[in-house]
Amino acid sequence: MLMIPGPTPVPEQVLLALAKSPIGHRSGDFTKIMADVTAKLKWIHQTENDVLILTASGTGAMEAGIINFLSKGDRVLVGENGKFGERWSEVCEAYGLDTVRVKAEWGKPLDPEVFREKLESDREKSIEAVIITHSETSTGVVNDLETINRHVKAHGKALIIVDAVTSLGAMNVPMDAWGLDVVASGSQKGYMIPPGLGFVAVGEKAWEAYKTANLPRYYFDLGKARKDAKKDSTPFTTSVNMVVALQVALKMMESEGLESIFARHLRHSQATRAAAKAMGLSLFAEDSCASASITAIATPDAEKIRSTIKKHFDIVMAGGQDHLNGSVFRIGHLGFVSDRDILTAVSALEGTLKILGHDGFTSGAGVGAAIAALNS
Ligand SMILES: *Cc1c(COP(=O)(O)O)cnc(C)c1O
Repeated sequence: MLMIPGPTPVPEQVLLALAKSPIGHRSGDFTKIMADVTAKLKWIHQTENDVLILTASGTGAMEAGIINFLSKGDRVLVGENGKFGERWSEVCEAYGLDTVRVKAEWGKPLDPEVFREKLESDREKSIEAVIITHSETSTGVVNDLETINRHVKAHGKALIIVDAVTSLGAMNVPMDAWGLDVVASGSQKGYMIPPGLGFVAVGEKAWEAYKTANLPRYYFDLGKARKDAKKDSTPFTTSVNMVVALQVALKMMESEGLESIFARHLRHSQATRAAAKAMGLSLFAEDSCASASITAIATPDAEKIRSTIKKHFDIVMAGGQDHLNGSVFRIGHLGFVSDRDILTAVSALEGTLKILGHDGFTSGAGVGAAIAALNS
């Protein structure tokens, strides 16, 4: 049982769709599927803009979202309060961008005021883009994208490029209502399908920047992808089986409804957090900035808990990354996760803590707190 922030559990209908023989990527049948999938992707992004499908993981989608709209030496602000923010700084540096890392401590949210100050004082309008990880998976912190984006809009020139890999399909990311320029995501997170596809949604202002952007690009040339997407196709052989599976997953999401999907993720986050607190564990992110899709827990027993819950209950939870390795573990509740899964994970965690001699709470406290939160 996977309770990690990607790959996430895959529904049986999706697995069965994956088992079908591949069809030709230039066939009429496949073109129809692409058209339907693209319409549904727009729905999930709450956008009328292009949403392009790439055969890549989320990092590829983000790299494409960065390199297509910028030129060598451009100044970019990168929000960095965890592993993924750090990765986007590294991508920017690899491509020779003038990268300003706007840091916050891991476990704390980015401070929108720092972005406001930097953007307001940029009178020459030399900042070309602001890159934000919405839900920072390494820490379970959700950044205040809406407020940071408002400061970007006030600046007027800079693009906002968003890593929505663990927020899209779990939390509200209304691309058009907020005026986000580039939104990247990956298949193995909220989409309920395996790893292998990346998605980049691109707005008009970014397409304007594309015309003059001069960073090297070939496989990830989004202009080429856009041209083919207009014919419900892709420039290169896409992962046809994954697109077929995606259609099934997106249909399931449509019938659940966006609001219900967001509400479910929030309830699961609240139940997991309530249970952790009731069992005497410390939450790494505060309530006010808790991601709905992932809960990070700080404890010196992190690795013992992970190996015990795996051994006794066959449940996989994620460890801490970099300096958090050994002192944090992370529970993913993203995508195809039900109340039953949450109660299973919480009760197994409770059993694990008892095995490890955590005696500071009464048996049943975690499960009870989770049930109360799920019912509230
Ligand atoms: C998983 C993830 C990614 C993408 O990672 P890949 O391994 O390339 O799919 C990017 N950003 C965040 C916040 C993630 O959680």
